[in-house]
Amino acid sequence: MIPTSFDYKKVTSVADALASLNGDAKILAGGHSLIPAMKLRLNQPATLIDITGIAALKGISDGGDKLIIGANCTHHDIVDSDLVKSHCAMLSQGGDMIGDIQVRNKGTIGGSIAHADPAADWPAMLIASGATIRVQGSDNSRDISADDFFTGFYETALQEGELITEIHVPKQGADTVGVYVKFPQPASRFAIVGVAAMVNHSGGNCNNVSIALNGVAGNAFRDTAAQAALEGKAYHADNIAAAANAAAEGVEVLSDPFASEKYRKHLAKVYVKRALSAANNQVDDLTKVEGIGPKIAEALQAAGVKTYAQLASKSSVEIKDIIVAANSRFANANPGTWPAQAKLAAEGKWDTLKKWQDELDGGV
Ligand SMILES: Cc1cc2nc3c(=O)[nH]c(=O)nc-3n(C[C@H](O)[C@H](O)[C@H](O)COP(=O)(O)OP(=O)(O)OC[C@H]3O[C@@H](n4cnc5c(N)ncnc54)[C@H](O)[C@@H]3O)c2cc1C
Repeated sequence: MIPTSFDYKKVTSVADALASLNGDAKILAGGHSLIPAMKLRLNQPATLIDITGIAALKGISDGGDKLIIGANCTHHDIVDSDLVKSHCAMLSQGGDMIGDIQVRNKGTIGGSIAHADPAADWPAMLIASGATIRVQGSDNSRDISADDFFTGFYETALQEGELITEIHVPKQGADTVGVYVKFPQPASRFAIVGVAAMVNHSGGNCNNVSIALNGVAGNAFRDTAAQAALEGKAYHADNIAAAANAAAEGVEVLSDPFASEKYRKHLAKVYVKRALSAANNQVDDLTKVEGIGPKIAEALQAAGVKTYAQLASKSSVEIKDIIVAANSRFANANPGTWPAQAKLAAEGKWDTLKKWQDELDGGV
């Protein structure tokens, strides 16, 4: 397939790029989406404005409470960045799942989000991270939240003549875990379904739950119903299952030769569950769970229950047995109350453990 003929112009500044961006001109970054589209003659620009030589659009810097990622950063630049690994680890983990090594070395984050393929990976990660996209027009610059940026099928809030210059990603706090998971198309690795989840676990419960999906609908979106189902709740299998069940409801789900609407919706729920469970798995300090003090944590760890995920996978009766085995004195003291307490624990009401912890104080 051969594209229609076009002029080519390489620019070295944002001002030059904007001045050239008129008529049927198009920005060229990594070319990994635009060139195939041109070969298929879905795009027939008169001029390509190559922005890969603009130094101001490269690099990742520390902006205080956020990271500033230049639009021309390749996927690999982001995956490999120590700043990203330290402050927005999900972008490094999830970015590494984009395409293959050639795609990651050439494709850029600016090109990916401007193209807004519903199956692209960055959009969900940026929405879940609370990122902002900075765009520059000939007269002014605008900051657009990632939530508002992806407006439809290959559509964004970017206006004609605007250039994406930076992506601002808030640094995640010490108690926040973010995970991106996807069911990839086996050849391209694009997401048939992709889920980005960020959860703050300070205080033992799931706070500031942020869940975004791509591949599922015409554009990446924040799944507010799934978020609400987990917000403020304990890290417990039942609560994670409730969030997963709520996912992709009330959404116009895509259907294509790779996955029917029904299958995609099912995958969305499965992958929300996987993302949240994987986020749990990264939290290994059981004392962060409300009601678990050092003694119960020690008893659980001695029994091989070392992470939130492992805790959530245990039934309340198993947890009770572990604690009772560690302190038979307590079991004898309160035999009648166990069933009720176990039921509360099964419902994710870990504050009951606080009571156990108080009574165990000095015992385990
Ligand atoms: C085989 C293959 C597998 C892939 N697999 C995946 C995958 O698994 N996951 C995934 O997310 N992506 C995947 N991609 C897409 C890849 O990530 C692309 O690199 C990306 O979508 C586009 O980035 P680019 O820099 O190549 O942009 P280009 O192709 O150069 O440009 C794409 C569009 O963005 C515009 N544009 C570029 N930069 C800017 C800017 N700064 N401001 C405004 N507009 C701009 C261009 O005008 C064009 O319309 C795959 C691509 C290929 C070829």
